[in-house]
Amino acid sequence: MTATFDLIVIGGGSGGVAAARRAASYGAKVVLIEKDRLGGTCVIRGCIPKKLMMYASRLGAELRQAEPYGWQIPEAHFEMASWQEAKSREIDRLEAIYARLLAQSGVQVVVGQAAIESANRVRVNGKLLQAQRILIATGGSPVVDALPGVEGVATSTDILNLRSVPKRLGILGAGYIALEFASILAGLGSQVSLYYRGDLPLRGFDASVRERMAASLQAQGILLHPGSHMERVEATAQGARLHVSGQVHDFDFVLNALGRRPNTTGLGLDQLGLVLSDDGAIPVDDWSETRVKGVFAIGDVTNRKNLTPVAIAEGRAFAENNFNGQQLRVDHASVATATFTNPPLASVGLAEHEALAQGKLRIYEAEFKPMKSAFTGSDAKAFMKMIVHDSSDRVLGIHMLGDDSPEIIQSLAVAYGMGAKKSDFDRTVAVHPTVAEEFMLMREPTRVVMP
Ligand code: NDP
Repeated sequence: MTATFDLIVIGGGSGGVAAARRAASYGAKVVLIEKDRLGGTCVIRGCIPKKLMMYASRLGAELRQAEPYGWQIPEAHFEMASWQEAKSREIDRLEAIYARLLAQSGVQVVVGQAAIESANRVRVNGKLLQAQRILIATGGSPVVDALPGVEGVATSTDILNLRSVPKRLGILGAGYIALEFASILAGLGSQVSLYYRGDLPLRGFDASVRERMAASLQAQGILLHPGSHMERVEATAQGARLHVSGQVHDFDFVLNALGRRPNTTGLGLDQLGLVLSDDGAIPVDDWSETRVKGVFAIGDVTNRKNLTPVAIAEGRAFAENNFNGQQLRVDHASVATATFTNPPLASVGLAEHEALAQGKLRIYEAEFKPMKSAFTGSDAKAFMKMIVHDSSDRVLGIHMLGDDSPEIIQSLAVAYGMGAKKSDFDRTVAVHPTVAEEFMLMREPTRVVMP
């Protein structure tokens, strides 16, 4: 017999779970199919364990800063195996919370590989399920064919499962994942070499922060190799060997951070006649509906803005629109983002090169040694930048490289989304002494630029 539902969700990551629970809250009969662990990339092998590793790395840096503040601390030692066990317990705990929340919401969970058979039928574990709507939320996974041999080296999933800190770590790429692990592992004691084809890391980000990010990585002892021509990688008894720009380098561990690709294999999309876009993503409209009526897709599988909160927002909007009569669209342009390096970088809005298309700009910048680190004699600086449209006074972009920047930019994203003007920042009285207050105290532009 075919089980019938209002909604079949394929994928139990942050987006799929959010959509399933929201739909169920409006009385929909929902089944969610997941082939691996509930929580998806973010909880199991992404944001959460990565941030726990970042905290471990940061604590080392904090300890090194403690002495000038009067603390006498005997030499500290990091045990990655202990961290690994504690991390695994925490991920198990979070996964159990996901399962509990789904059960409390009345969502039925099926463990298995889903194969779509038609616009309202899905087969899983040999059984046929039927629903008015299907939501694909299968996420993405690392690209493992960017260069010969790279399929045999570690990805972000593997680096999060390390039980010891690699002495010599080679990282391929200079996007979010590459930079975060470069910084985290350097903080834990690895000698990190970063190889990338561009001249600066983080293509697409504002040039001022990219330049300072490169300098900051170097200051952490990371060896930067811009303009690298990566030829191939091979596994060795000690780790991996990288052939790059005509040279050969041996490492204990090589991380493939050459991007991610939407997970669509085995879903049966060809049965539906769904043609993927060139980047392998499922094309959707503003309402996350595919070209097949009743079949929707959200999150990384659509490759719009591959961030957990975006997938959650898309999933909730889908549920509101289909089960609660709303007409919600996700505004991808005002989504803030951060790289959890040390120090972190965070941004909301446009980079300077993007904002220029809108006309004359005023650029406000501040660069200074924050009180906390200046006290210890550190040279580390915070950099803050605000891009303002000259004629309308509208803030078009806010960027920061410095401690707590993700927390600061998260709050500023509200002002940005409301269309804040520079004059709104000027009349906001600062909280003192903070780093964030600098955003309220930027009086004169450092530059005025014309398109
Ligand atoms: P990114 O797209 O950020 O970076 C991929 C890197 O690989 C770039 O440096 C890119 O170079 C390089 N690259 C890709 N293909 C090749 C190739 N054939 N040869 C040489 N270099 C290549 O991907 P990530 O995997 O780091 O992250 C994926 C996504 O996950 C991010 O875009 C982000 O949306 C999300 N994410 C978010 C995080 C956060 O919010 N903190 C953390 C981690 C991931 P080039 O720039 O020159 O193309």
